[in-house]
Amino acid sequence: AIQFQGVGKRFGDNVVLDGLDFSVAKGDRVTLIGPSGSGKTTILRLLMTLEEANDGLIYVDGDCYTHEMRDGKRVAIPEKRRSLVRRRVGMVFQQFNLFPNMTVLENIIEAPIHVLGKPKAEAIASAEALLDKVGLADKRDARTMQLSGGQQQRVAIARALAMEPEILLLDEVTSALDPELVADVLGVLRNIAETTDITMLIVTHEMQFAREVSNRVLMFDGGKIIEEADPDTIFTSPKHERTQEFLRAIL
Ligand code: ATP
Repeated sequence: AIQFQGVGKRFGDNVVLDGLDFSVAKGDRVTLIGPSGSGKTTILRLLMTLEEANDGLIYVDGDCYTHEMRDGKRVAIPEKRRSLVRRRVGMVFQQFNLFPNMTVLENIIEAPIHVLGKPKAEAIASAEALLDKVGLADKRDARTMQLSGGQQQRVAIARALAMEPEILLLDEVTSALDPELVADVLGVLRNIAETTDITMLIVTHEMQFAREVSNRVLMFDGGKIIEEADPDTIFTSPKHERTQEFLRAIL
């Protein structure tokens, strides 16, 4: 579903991603781990087109994402094509990023109506089904700022799913939550993982969650992937010394 080919990203002199190659198959659940600053969030932001790579190409289902090769040169693709590819990707952020003055329902139907052009009644019906799925049917008409962090994050998950993405990016989605609210959010995500075939890229410090939900773990360091394995293998017998150090420090 996703392919990175020689992707480089720099901020000034800081080389964050260095000729990165990897691919993710449809339905894969991939957890990205690595020290702070190793570029995990940057990868998700590239896929949301919140950042642009300096080199290389990104494909989603074989379609070029932001740049393509034309006559041997790397060129940006037109905005119209770009937005069509971008639509296949949804993201949930650490800080929820909900519209604070809208109700829960309004938050969820906004993009399906205005971006996808869904009829309002249809958007409402899907939003209600999603609210049921994330356990918030009774909060349909609440203002989001009246909700707990865990509830807000579940609304954010429903909002991302309302766009029917093929790929869901989860960036530290429990990091801003009080510990007692984390389990609910992880439970909702586990349920989505079990009941859909959405491809997921997950950045998290919740290793138990990574272990339960993902089928692949990629360890980043120095702008590259230094180790990759299934979660049981990487968490019980990491090969690379940097992976061992990293896991010792966080587990
Ligand atoms: P963490 O686990 O702390 O979230 P990370 O692996 O997700 O780290 P990134 O957030 O991707 O790392 O950041 C990688 C590097 O890029 C960091 O050194 C960061 O300071 C730098 N960086 C990220 N965004 C920007 C930006 N907009 N401008 C300048 N530097 C940036």
